[in-house]
Amino acid sequence: MSAVSIRLLVTSSDASVRLKTAAQSIQAMGPFTLVVPNVPAGRSVRARLGDHLRAQSLTQLARERLRAGGWRPLRPGERDAFLRRALADTEFQYLTPLLDRPSTWSSLARTLSELLRADVEPQAVLNVAKTAREHDVAQAFAAYVATCVRERCFDLSGTEYFARRHAPSTPLRALVHGFTHLDASQIAFLGALLAPGSALTLPDPDERRLHETRRTAQAFQARGFVTEHLPAAPHPHEGETTSAYTAPDVESEVRAALRQVQAWLAAGSAPHQLGVVVRDEATYLPALIDVAREYDLPLTGHHQLPLLRTAVGALVWLWLEALEGDWAFSRTRALLTHPLCGLLGDSLEVARRLSPAFPAGLEAWHPDLAWLELPPEESLSGAVGRLERFLREAGVVDRRRTDMQLNAHIASLVEALSGAAQDHTLRPRQDVTALLRHTLSTHTTPLLLGRGGVRVLNPLGLLGRQFHKLWVLGLADGLYPPRVSESPLLDSAVRARWSEAGVFVPDASTSTAVEETIFHGALLSSAQELVLSSPRRTAQGRSLAPSVFLTRLGTLPAWSSEVPLASEGEQLLERALNAGEVPEAVRRAAQIEQERDAGQPSAHHGLLGESLWDPAWTWSASQLHDVGACRFRWFGRKALGLREDADPEAGEDRRVTGTLLHAALEGALRGWTPQDQPALLLERAEAALDRAIVRERRAGNFHPGPLFEIERREWRQIVQQALQSPDFLPEGWTPDQAALEGSFDQTLAVGEVVFRLRGVVDRVDHSPVGKLVTDYKVGTYISTVQPNAQETGKLDLEIQLPLYMRALGAVGGRYFSIEGSKVIGAAGQLNTKKAYDAAKHEAALDTFLLGVHQDFEAGQVTPRPDQDGKACGFCTVAPVCRHPGGRA
Ligand code: SF4
Repeated sequence: MSAVSIRLLVTSSDASVRLKTAAQSIQAMGPFTLVVPNVPAGRSVRARLGDHLRAQSLTQLARERLRAGGWRPLRPGERDAFLRRALADTEFQYLTPLLDRPSTWSSLARTLSELLRADVEPQAVLNVAKTAREHDVAQAFAAYVATCVRERCFDLSGTEYFARRHAPSTPLRALVHGFTHLDASQIAFLGALLAPGSALTLPDPDERRLHETRRTAQAFQARGFVTEHLPAAPHPHEGETTSAYTAPDVESEVRAALRQVQAWLAAGSAPHQLGVVVRDEATYLPALIDVAREYDLPLTGHHQLPLLRTAVGALVWLWLEALEGDWAFSRTRALLTHPLCGLLGDSLEVARRLSPAFPAGLEAWHPDLAWLELPPEESLSGAVGRLERFLREAGVVDRRRTDMQLNAHIASLVEALSGAAQDHTLRPRQDVTALLRHTLSTHTTPLLLGRGGVRVLNPLGLLGRQFHKLWVLGLADGLYPPRVSESPLLDSAVRARWSEAGVFVPDASTSTAVEETIFHGALLSSAQELVLSSPRRTAQGRSLAPSVFLTRLGTLPAWSSEVPLASEGEQLLERALNAGEVPEAVRRAAQIEQERDAGQPSAHHGLLGESLWDPAWTWSASQLHDVGACRFRWFGRKALGLREDADPEAGEDRRVTGTLLHAALEGALRGWTPQDQPALLLERAEAALDRAIVRERRAGNFHPGPLFEIERREWRQIVQQALQSPDFLPEGWTPDQAALEGSFDQTLAVGEVVFRLRGVVDRVDHSPVGKLVTDYKVGTYISTVQPNAQETGKLDLEIQLPLYMRALGAVGGRYFSIEGSKVIGAAGQLNTKKAYDAAKHEAALDTFLLGVHQDFEAGQVTPRPDQDGKACGFCTVAPVCRHPGGRA
């Protein structure tokens, strides 16, 4: 049989040998097309066979044929909307209640792609489907294929499927090279397309690990291809070296790989001759980008990043989270203080100002932001329009002009949303946000934008290509090969049954076989020098076993780690660890930390060396409680402005309860006259409680939960019991109407020193003995301070009552517990305990205030909690304090 009338299958374990032989057999017969797995492989093969050749990837070839037949490819952002439209009239049984979940649609999309690649006919699937779930899948497949045919549209996974069935079928003489295996739709397309005189190459199908190569070779042989098997030269990798390296963790592994790449470049290799291979891109690409930046090493590649993991994607996600969370404070804060969001001038300052109250709603942040909200019913196009306005007014669109990466990510976002922008159907808001979330999670954007540099590729990208030197990262269990989960719509038992009935759809075990075929057939034969590496631990510290792909290769020579360090930081670290040469700035910083740990006073440990005292400073009771519990705590909170990142939702209940109960008791006495009966007080208190609830809800501080009515009953009971207590309004007392919840701003002279004190008093009463001060406490806790500046003592001095008494000219003061319905502490003439001495209490307050002044004059605010360490137990400055009491 002459070579002109046959179709040739050339197999060999040596890629160069099979290419040479196949090319020789086909070149003699005149012009032909080169068909390769990807565009770079075309360049690589043309470099060896001649630039005059026309090279196309298999997908390009199929797409070109479909276009010639009047078909068009679906744009990346269009497929979701197309799928939903294609299945709109399908009557599902099993899937109906699951269709409002985005995950159902992604599973459906994945399963339909698998069926297209398996090259099965819709009717054959309908014939073998047994259960309701299988019927739904079969119906969806039939509807999707019918819509594609009717509208002459195709997606990437259906390119070869539809090309074989619906594109012009002019035979093509071609050399197909670079594949290790092909899926069923590719085999069927090529089987129908390749004219006599064509040749196709594959690795040696008899090699142990190449199951998928074997299956592919058998499929072409069944279509009449004549096999020419070329035994390998003495050893296909002669002169090549393969070594292995195990790194402690992912970052060390990446550093080793890029240091080796630097060394190869320094030894004369060109960047395009080198490659770094990663299978688990999510784990390795961020580390590669960081370390390459540190080494000043340009990388290039075609990797994609989910839009969600870009800065602009994260910003859009925060907008959706805030929308769905009814603009709760923490979600709104996360959106408006995002570094890309410039809607407010100084958003961090606004957040700080609002944080004591944690108000919900956009109004609290700015009166003109209401347009960020979506109505309860909205179309996707409306939501996309709102999103465009947000990105424009937040300044993100302007920034793209100077930020190449941001520009690329926004372009991808616009493309991903292009389908949604045409969808004008009104839907419930939660459906709109779920669809936008789905788009952000499933659409991708290019990661490495540089044109030149050392190539980062995944194993598929190696098909048909040759490199001088390669480093393969991540050969660890679960990373490469990755774990494959079963499809929730078609499990392996169903696939096995379908297969017996003549409908073969590969299962999870085929995915692993494909991985292994690519590893052995492409990766191991793509370079003269190859390093295979694995980490012992993940970035989270989880231990990793070596990949089976690595262990099956047996013992390999160890990679020589004698490569030069590649950055100044690494050199500094090396000198510090091995020669004890630590840079002066680092040594000084370490010394400061050691001194702080040892409790030695310094400027970093509260001994400031200059006066902190400011006579104009306004003090409050809570500030004096801080400074009296521990000077450093006041310094951290007030002078440095350190705040814990409180979760406003978590702290809401107790704070709001206090506000509401205070309001109720204030309301009970508002307009009080001596004739008022207890029932009237209760009526006024309940009305005030209801008003306060409305006020706090409107301000966004209070979000009633399902137990709201029970809570409200409890609050009413607490207020009722407090009002019935004889302690609440003793005989002969007259509440001062002007002073109810009144604020004051007074100066207090203590010897030569003057303190300015500002505060809010809950209540002042007139009585036969004089003015009296009442402070309401919700529970029974009373703040106290250490009395003496010079000695560490107990937290046993109460200062608020004598301070307020002095500021307001009162002769006595007391704490009234609302929940306890009784007095829990008193000062001045209201403290009738035998052991109590009002004059001593006053003097202790003076000593305390003078001690504060003395320490502030000396610039002395070192950590000095009470002797029992109680202050440290509820201290928000603890994370930056080196006092042993402040450590968890
Ligand atoms: S943790 Fe203790 S020592 Fe440190 S600032 Fe707080 S109260 Fe003071």
